[in-house]
Amino acid sequence: MTNPCEPNILGERLLPVPEPDNQPFWDALRVGELRIQRCVDCDTLQHPPQPMCPRCPGSTQEWALMSGRGEVYSYVVTHQPTNPAFRDKTPFATVIVELAEGPRMVSNLVDVAPEAIEIGMPVEVVFHPVTEEITLPLFRRATSP
Ligand code: ZN
Repeated sequence: MTNPCEPNILGERLLPVPEPDNQPFWDALRVGELRIQRCVDCDTLQHPPQPMCPRCPGSTQEWALMSGRGEVYSYVVTHQPTNPAFRDKTPFATVIVELAEGPRMVSNLVDVAPEAIEIGMPVEVVFHPVTEEITLPLFRRATSP
């Protein structure tokens, strides 16, 4: 079990470096919002952010506010650290969360032991500030149906 307020596997991890295409994603997370890129022309949601729509020729994107709810689509548990930063952190789980709105994102769960994770488990986002620039979107078991 991990507590998002305590040092855990996030303490030493390499952090994302925002780029122009995804800066709004990181800006939203800093203020406690999970926003996903949406094509203005065809309403397709896409993640990770890209300059062009995958479904149409559109290149105008907006940042749609997500509910923060979803379910575990898949996961893998790491027992053998491949990076020294994770030496004392195993086992830990990396999950793919399918958001209620459809897009999938890679994340970690907090407060759920790896052996307790189940495919289809309802989860909700929790915002984990790591630096002034980076807040990570992690997930926990949903507290309401
Ligand atoms: Zn489109």
